[in-house]
Amino acid sequence: MKALVANFSLGREVWDRFKAKMFGNAGGPHALSLELAEVPEPSIIGSQWVKIRTVMSGISGMDESLFVHQDISPFAAFLSFPYIPGHENLGLVTEAGRDVQGIEEGERVVVDPVLSCRPRGVTPLCPSCVRGDPSTCRNFDKGVLAPGILIGACRDTGGGWSDSFIAHRSQVRVLPQNMESDHAILIPEFTRAVRAVLQHPPAPTDSVIVVGARPLGCLTAIALRLLGHGGKVLMVAEHPLGPELDGKFGDSQVTLSLGVDLAYEEVAQFVKGAIRYPEVGRITVEGGADIVYETTGTGENIEHALRFTGEGKKLVLMDMNQPSGFDFAPLWFKGVKIFGTLFSGRDSYKQGVLETFDIALGLASTEGVFFNELVTHKFRLEEHRSAFETLKNRFANNALKVIFQHVV
Ligand SMILES: [Zn+2]
Repeated sequence: MKALVANFSLGREVWDRFKAKMFGNAGGPHALSLELAEVPEPSIIGSQWVKIRTVMSGISGMDESLFVHQDISPFAAFLSFPYIPGHENLGLVTEAGRDVQGIEEGERVVVDPVLSCRPRGVTPLCPSCVRGDPSTCRNFDKGVLAPGILIGACRDTGGGWSDSFIAHRSQVRVLPQNMESDHAILIPEFTRAVRAVLQHPPAPTDSVIVVGARPLGCLTAIALRLLGHGGKVLMVAEHPLGPELDGKFGDSQVTLSLGVDLAYEEVAQFVKGAIRYPEVGRITVEGGADIVYETTGTGENIEHALRFTGEGKKLVLMDMNQPSGFDFAPLWFKGVKIFGTLFSGRDSYKQGVLETFDIALGLASTEGVFFNELVTHKFRLEEHRSAFETLKNRFANNALKVIFQHVV
């Protein structure tokens, strides 16, 4: 089958480190390569596993960090090479193991990608998995699979940037027949937004800021509305939003700032704070929001988000993408509390505790909720360089969600 294969050259890494030591040019790109190749199809590895033919696979912020910005450092401990990326996947079931119930061949599915204790067959479950937080599982390198935090980061499962991959039955969700694929492909990313809001919900009177109007930011604004937050949300976009997104965020107040650094006045007005202009250095906000969701993962935007957060208030970091050094000053001067969230788990919702993926699927089935407009670009695997170029110049290209579309 056809696949984009990620690999790592130890020799080149050693050479790069030698050069960095000798010539002091540390911080250059790491030795990660991505090549289109013909590889054998994966086989299911047990009676509880499912094989899926890929229909669509998204490019996430984490993928962008790895393949657009060539920064492997945050993920190195959670990958096994060579692997096929792609963890936001929609496909058709082509084979189901004999102990798989409720998932039939030919059904259209989306997949929760986390490879924690349960898919790995590790017992007893680690403390993170017991408390419903498999995204912080301690066993990402144990059990029946090679190391890897996700389908799309583990050499044994494959990933969606290929014609076919495998998943444990606990990871697979059958889609309602009437749900469009362009909508459903966003469910894995929407799950992350739902988890962030459920784990760190705003109080009704809280001032709430979402930094970033990339897909995860848009989905966070939608999750806030669907999970019942009735108050205003200030969404600090990095670029003007297209008219196709008008009205998609309920009564959220969306700025049209050309760059987050131009949004300080709007932020100060929104939180009833003031801007402090120092004689040297960066401007900051006195006061700030009760809760800020940072959805882009770039070092620059995390620094802005810190400055938008109120004294003693909460900043939730939701993505990893192009990290860089940033000024921690608001941590000391504002006592900001920082939390990270990633992927899925089990969360309290209404009267019970449910899988976040199921909560997200239920919310995505709400009448009148459409993610379709967020999918702006589709590429075939052969066009991967164009896909990454599109993301590199996302604002000029009006790019929101960029996906690989397979021919089925
Ligand atoms: Zn675990």
